[in-house]
Amino acid sequence: MDIRTGHGYDVHKLTENRKLIIGGIEIPYEKGLLGHSDADVLTHAIMDSLLGAAALGDIGTHFPDNDPAYSGADSIELLKKVCVLIKESGYTISNIDATVIAQQPKLKPYIEAMRSKLSDVMQLPIDRISIKATTEEHLGFTGRLEGISAHCVSLIYKQ
Ligand code: MG
Repeated sequence: MDIRTGHGYDVHKLTENRKLIIGGIEIPYEKGLLGHSDADVLTHAIMDSLLGAAALGDIGTHFPDNDPAYSGADSIELLKKVCVLIKESGYTISNIDATVIAQQPKLKPYIEAMRSKLSDVMQLPIDRISIKATTEEHLGFTGRLEGISAHCVSLIYKQ
């Protein structure tokens, strides 16, 4: 069996007058994440971990941020495309494990909704989707409420 792991990392800046979308879920908050797409930091880290596992480059390669086609893009739709790429390369996704780092807002109330959404989109049982949230104890850019980051590792396999 060919088993591969991949890692993804992403950061977006918190700013006024933007929606806060994490893991495909809109979260009520006074600020949102800035980016060319909907700036869904978690979904971006998940995509990069999957592409990394299959050595298929990164989301910048597949969905360039200077391409008007991806302006305001729904990252969940991009994740669907990444899952197709993984399948086309002969791999099956085993599981993902992600951590979102945000001082505010508290993400715990939204974690189950994110898992459920990602389970639907990735066509993966919910018990194979782990999402965790933490703070950096007021340290660094996340601690100063300047941005939110996300890490993800994924495992894919081919018989
Ligand atoms: Mg991003």
